[in-house]
Amino acid sequence: MTPSQIVKFLDQHVIGQDEAKRQLAVAIYTHYKKIQLAGPDQVAIVKSNVLLIGPTGTGKTLLCEMLSRVLEVPFVTANATSLAQSEYVNDEIEAILQRLIDKAQGDIERAQRGIVFIDEIDKLKAISSAHGQSRGTSGEGVQHALLKIMEGVPVKIKDARYIDTTQILFICGGAFVGIEEILAKTRSFGFISTSEDDNQKLLDRLNARVKPTDLFDYGLIQEFAGRLPIVAHLKPLSREMMVRIMTEPRNSIYSQYQQILKDSGVELIIEPLVFEQIADLAMEYRVGARSLRGIFEEMLTPAMYLVPDHPEVRQVRIASLFEDPRFIGTRASA
Ligand code: ADP
Repeated sequence: MTPSQIVKFLDQHVIGQDEAKRQLAVAIYTHYKKIQLAGPDQVAIVKSNVLLIGPTGTGKTLLCEMLSRVLEVPFVTANATSLAQSEYVNDEIEAILQRLIDKAQGDIERAQRGIVFIDEIDKLKAISSAHGQSRGTSGEGVQHALLKIMEGVPVKIKDARYIDTTQILFICGGAFVGIEEILAKTRSFGFISTSEDDNQKLLDRLNARVKPTDLFDYGLIQEFAGRLPIVAHLKPLSREMMVRIMTEPRNSIYSQYQQILKDSGVELIIEPLVFEQIADLAMEYRVGARSLRGIFEEMLTPAMYLVPDHPEVRQVRIASLFEDPRFIGTRASA
């Protein structure tokens, strides 16, 4: 698959984040191309792992999952915070790889081409200072442990078997709150600016790039930051994007519920205003698109409760988040 084909697939499931989609698509394309080319007598492949920076609930995990789906490779997620809470970080890492193998139905070859997403990589500094050295693993210890598998070593797993991590693609994620300010501060250094438009565009992009040094403030050690040469940014979701998330993707929450009710012969109609009201609430919760499902499902609870007992209902119509749904085809009310 070409990068543009990958982006096209991602577009069906992930709203917005165009820049990140393109970067990821190219990174993935290059990664698997390198694997293909790496033969016994070829140059050794140098892996480029990816860092996804963006607020919580903006699609980091979703993007990784969709990538794995389009590439038909196994995919698992892990969390840096919980790795640091364990005293035996290597056991935890082994467990992650074991899950990857399980996802590949025990096929180690397939697992070796999988994707591992490690979230909250920006929380490691806070963890090590909060927990001291007495319990858990220091943030730095976690990074050293992760580095080993990111660089590619064989890891022993159950039944005395080994999994080679050389070709596994590691994607790290984190909110990196305040990174924009750090970038703004360091932006003026390093590159000479020019007045020529074409060059300016490239220079702007290079200047806006996250450099390994920008990540030190978050407790990432040099070697670790250096292992994440590709950095993609996800944007905070706008209200309009939230509305689209509920209605547009193939498997959107709206279409899921329309499908469920259609199965009972009921048409579900939700007026556009309702999606805007839900998006407004979700914006207040500040967890990106994470709160959409909860609000949506709560709104539909009265309907989902009533409909199964009333086979005569033909249509459920919701005009406002703050009004009862209307049931058409019956005199029942919620
Ligand atoms: P995070 O960035 O914290 O990893 P997730 O990818 O887990 O966020 O997203 C949380 C929820 O919100 C998921 O159910 C996902 O489907 C939805 N979501 C978040 N961002 C988007 C987006 N850009 N497009 C579609 N759905 C999204």
